[in-house]
Amino acid sequence: MDQGYMLEGSSDLMLHRSKLIINAALTGNVPTKTDVPNVPITPDEIISDARKCFAAGATFFHLHARDDDGKPSCKREIFEEIVFGIRKHCPGSVICVTAGGRIFKTFEERSAILDIEGELKPEFASLTLGSINFPADVSVNSPNIIQSLAKAMLSKGIRPELEIFDTGMLNYAAYLTRKGFLRSPFHFNLFFGLLGTMPARMVDMCHLVQSLPQNSTWASAGGGKFQLSVNTAAILMGGHVRTGIEDNFYYDHEKNIPATNEMLVERLARLAKELGRPVANSSEARGILGL
Ligand code: ZN
Repeated sequence: MDQGYMLEGSSDLMLHRSKLIINAALTGNVPTKTDVPNVPITPDEIISDARKCFAAGATFFHLHARDDDGKPSCKREIFEEIVFGIRKHCPGSVICVTAGGRIFKTFEERSAILDIEGELKPEFASLTLGSINFPADVSVNSPNIIQSLAKAMLSKGIRPELEIFDTGMLNYAAYLTRKGFLRSPFHFNLFFGLLGTMPARMVDMCHLVQSLPQNSTWASAGGGKFQLSVNTAAILMGGHVRTGIEDNFYYDHEKNIPATNEMLVERLARLAKELGRPVANSSEARGILGL
């Protein structure tokens, strides 16, 4: 009875029962304590937030690091300190470190985190598949740097979190796969609702999800006030979700309540339960991602 009226073999569904992975993007490059008082900046603060989010249902952590002045840092040692704490307090959780191009431009800076080895080696690193304008700056991702990062990730055994901000970036993923820079299984993060990205419309989400290659898992993120609606659509469509202060500073649409990462994760866990998508634990998340 459960899916009786669905097309046979259909995978886009309103009755999707597979478990939900909640990805918490805790810090990002941009937010400061002035923008959002609860953004975690120091390794201790980031670890403490991860702990609370883990207890609330997050099993995937997308990490940025900051230096002593609170500025974005690509220093391997800071990432190692954060990963050590998260591995200790959030057992089995999946770690993704940023290799983004918004602040750091050279391959050496952006690939420093790929040298983390042993028990602290992350499962994923972000790989943005094209250049993109944000409201006030640009994330530059030339073909050369994308391919170099992808190659380095392949050789280190670190999976790319494939960041898609526009439809052409998905075409580029297909090209990279054909050329041997990317290998299945794929995990995509689809980003909607920022100035310069795809708009946060259902039609755009559906188009992108239908265009994903076979053997993909995907999560969706929305910028600012679109975070909750994009996450909710992804829950209904059988995808996974990325939330957190990196993408959205406020809990409410009216921008009266500054967000905490924990509040954002708790709300999604609650919503998912109501919508019939139980939240995955760490080992279930690993199974879903093919780790
Ligand atoms: Zn990020």
